[in-house]
Amino acid sequence: MSENLNVLTSTQAIIHEALNKLGYDEAMYELLKEPLRMLQVRIPVRMDDGSTKVYTGFRAQHNDAVGPTKGGVRFHPGVYEDEVKALSMWMTLKCGIVDLPYGGGKGGVICDPREMSMGELERLSRGYVRAVSQIVGPTKDIPAPDVMTNAQIMAWMMDEYSLMDEFNSPNFITGKPLVLGGSQGRDRATAQGVTIVIEEAAKKRGINIRGARVVIQGFGNAGSFLAKFMHDLGAKVIGISDAYGALHDPNGLDIDYLLDRRDSFGTVTTLFENTISNKELLELDCDILVPAAIENQITADNAHEIKANIVVEAANGPTTAEATKILTERGILLVPDVLASAGGVTVSYFEWVQNNQGYYWTKEEVEERLIKKMVDAFENVYTTATTRNIDMRLAAYMVGVRRTAEASRFRGWV
Ligand code: NAD
Repeated sequence: MSENLNVLTSTQAIIHEALNKLGYDEAMYELLKEPLRMLQVRIPVRMDDGSTKVYTGFRAQHNDAVGPTKGGVRFHPGVYEDEVKALSMWMTLKCGIVDLPYGGGKGGVICDPREMSMGELERLSRGYVRAVSQIVGPTKDIPAPDVMTNAQIMAWMMDEYSLMDEFNSPNFITGKPLVLGGSQGRDRATAQGVTIVIEEAAKKRGINIRGARVVIQGFGNAGSFLAKFMHDLGAKVIGISDAYGALHDPNGLDIDYLLDRRDSFGTVTTLFENTISNKELLELDCDILVPAAIENQITADNAHEIKANIVVEAANGPTTAEATKILTERGILLVPDVLASAGGVTVSYFEWVQNNQGYYWTKEEVEERLIKKMVDAFENVYTTATTRNIDMRLAAYMVGVRRTAEASRFRGWV
């Protein structure tokens, strides 16, 4: 039988197992197996040549028993309904794991920003906010950046919402530029969170980060900042990649040079001739492997070839359920996405808190709070996994889903 690569059904299966282990009955699974709300919209956009193009967008709100829903908006040609649903469910889990008073949400628009002008992107961003305006808002559902959306897009979205709301509403969205109420450290928060969990995982495995061999798949927002942090901690980043290929140097790559040369979509390998494939990259001999690109990269087909001691998922959904089983059986420590990449939503929460109180924190204050959240979360998941003798993904789902299930029960929904 071929492997299940559908992110929604594989997420549902683990949520089901986690709820069973926590002692909840089928009614709770019925509630949590799909988002409470899923809005599909059509967004007409005037293009630069005078024509009109209609884009399809989504906003999923998984569960708001704990508080408003929260999650990014993805602009990508491959966005589809089940993916947006799964991403909203992962946000519920992430918020539960790092203990934020939110439920999970997520949005997406089927489009290719690489082929759009700035004017077209601005009109699409504003159109998306108008289309979903009835279900979003600072106390309902708070968007943020995700794949191929950035601080500029958040600024347009915040401006559009403020115009409709007739108030300046910085707390409507996070990931904004600093001058519009963004938080110190938000742009690098995901990579910083990944770095913190790598340090914790390395301690458990007796690996010294200084001199450790690190391989990172993806050189975008998450992967490139992570390469820099690892390099600055004294690790040897021996492999990186993007959508077009991978670079490998067993003596360590020149990360500062690569950061300098990469474009705004995280492409750098096209400048080099001696590249290897992404498949070869994942199978390199290393201590720490970090998939930081796209879904379904470590599957039953290549899980036996992974040589890393620790795999840390910076990307959402890079390892299939079957591959998770294989890696765990082989004694590889797998730190799952819902834990490893929760730094982004954590600092997004800090940004929202600062917007609500109108008082802004220093970079050091943000960093200190982020470290505490991530270290506590790692320890909680790791202890759950070891005491129950289960893999880290199932442990993370148990920790992540518990609060939403409890809040739903107290509210009388189940
Ligand atoms: P990005 O668009 O900035 O970068 C993506 C990188 O992956 C680019 O270097 C791209 O070339 C590469 N890539 C694309 N297709 C590839 C392929 N087939 N093989 C190898 N590389 C490929 O995106 P990002 O913001 O860095 O996000 C990367 C992953 O991390 C996604 O799964 C995203 O959901 C997850 N994530 C990001 C954040 C964040 O704050 N940026 C937060 C949580 C999770």
